[in-house]
Amino acid sequence: MEKIIRQLTQSKRILVVSHSSPDGDAIGSLLALGLSLSVLNKDLTFYNESQIPAVYRFLPHTDRIVQQIDNVSIYDTAVVLDCADMERIGNMAPRVALIPAIINIDHHVTNSGFGHFCLIDTEACATAEIVYRLITAMNIPIDTAIATCIYTGILTDTGSFRFSNTNRATFEICRQMTDLGVSTYQVAQHVYGTYSMGRIRLLNRALDSIEISKDGKISLMTLTNNMLEETGTHPEDIDGFINYAKRIEDVKVAVLIQENGNGRQHVSLRSDGSVDVADIASSFGGGGHRTAAGFSIEASTATLKKELLARIQV
Ligand code: 5GP
Ligand code: MN
Repeated sequence: MEKIIRQLTQSKRILVVSHSSPDGDAIGSLLALGLSLSVLNKDLTFYNESQIPAVYRFLPHTDRIVQQIDNVSIYDTAVVLDCADMERIGNMAPRVALIPAIINIDHHVTNSGFGHFCLIDTEACATAEIVYRLITAMNIPIDTAIATCIYTGILTDTGSFRFSNTNRATFEICRQMTDLGVSTYQVAQHVYGTYSMGRIRLLNRALDSIEISKDGKISLMTLTNNMLEETGTHPEDIDGFINYAKRIEDVKVAVLIQENGNGRQHVSLRSDGSVDVADIASSFGGGGHRTAAGFSIEASTATLKKELLARIQV
């Protein structure tokens, strides 16, 4: 922490970046840290490869997040947030890797330990929690905008305080963020309260696609590009659907297979804790947490299902 604070204080031009296809923690952490460092009058770029999902555009200053960086050589420091490995940044990863000082801030058990400075806490419920600790250690005042970003990161990564990563610190930090003026109802309304009609129709298709293994312990949900096209939705609209597959009585592991175009599929895995899905995702080249993990792969849906059922031992 001290080394990172020294590095950030000495830096002039900082790139703050989080993983592509960002979730609430990736965006919340990026904005919270970026807005905090702005106080120190640094030359900052907030970068994410992907467009910000509509449900997170209410967050303050999302317009500061750019989807393109032209010249990486201008930065002396990069802060990489919520990424288990550099590749999670996306296509720019090899160029970001050239920045002289790389700070890796994350909470995934599968974090590769990349970069020159690591602040990894696998007990943290969200990367936003670690960002909160860093900002606090730097004595940077947390205003309502920063607090809203931290709160949203924690809210979404704990599945609204339902997942097993929810703990005392979760509530303690969220209580402080509420004291700092976060409108918890407004955040909930933006993140969970409003679905487009297309998204409801897509959910209908997703629920319809659920298959259960013979022993009832594994559920599989499959989403195709066709379903997105027919409902006029985007990949971001799938966020959270896997929880329906996981909720089913007796199910220990839920799988969501999502067609990514050009033959690639993204697979999400969730477990009730009895199976380590980070291990399974790692065996396919991905990563994550014990109870929530994922990977991307080039394979047919049928082969993938067979391979997954063989590797998930419940
Ligand atoms: P999701 O299933 O929501 O995409 O991701 C669940 C968890 O697995 C997240 O913590 C995410 O960071 C991780 N994850 C998802 N996809 C990948 C991947 O392709 N590589 C790695 N290393 N982690 C992933
Ligand atoms: Mn996270």
